Amino acid sequence: MTGNLLNIYKIIKNTEVEGPGRRFCIWTQGCSRHCKGCFAKQTWEFGVGKSFTVDDLWNEIKAENGIEGITLLGGEPFEQAEPLAILTTLVKNSGYSVVCFTGYTYEELKNSKNSGVTALLNNIDLLIDGNFIQDKFDLTRPWVGSSNQRYLFLTDYYKPEDIKKYKNKIEIRIAGNGKLEINGMGDFKKLEQKLCLQLGQNKIK
Ligand code: SF4
Repeated sequence: MTGNLLNIYKIIKNTEVEGPGRRFCIWTQGCSRHCKGCFAKQTWEFGVGKSFTVDDLWNEIKAENGIEGITLLGGEPFEQAEPLAILTTLVKNSGYSVVCFTGYTYEELKNSKNSGVTALLNNIDLLIDGNFIQDKFDLTRPWVGSSNQRYLFLTDYYKPEDIKKYKNKIEIRIAGNGKLEINGMGDFKKLEQKLCLQLGQNKIK
């Protein structure tokens, strides 16, 4: 996906469990990394999500009250770096923060020759990098599922002490049709057992 168009798996306009504070969250569609144990295989295929222009998404972000920023998850946001760089420039210029989860390491992104990747990286306040690794499963830190994943403070918008006040949490929404939707990070198996329900797993990284 290039230019001004984004392919999106899912949006939650106002959530408190995908980064600091209240956030507008965008799950991109498409990931070529195919990590073992990925929670979100439904986001791997490219081009099967919903298409949005950058302007469509920006208008939705601006219309949402009470958010302090946006969070990009996947899929792999950096596979759609060019349009996300345009979107995040609008977001940053309006004073919102940008948090991004990626399966790439910061070093891989920093060394990329792709100008879209560099532009997106330059707009991120808090980057959470690294694949989910099943053998390093660890839920003791907020928003992440394995101990290799790092919080990288690329601007001074957030500081390490800001992160310490958060814990992993799960949000459950019940749609009008009765469908349950969960997001956040936690032990989904335990939750399923406790609720005695078959819940869809929507957490991505
Ligand atoms: S964990 Fe993230 S980077 Fe890895 S396959 Fe899943 S969506 Fe892609």
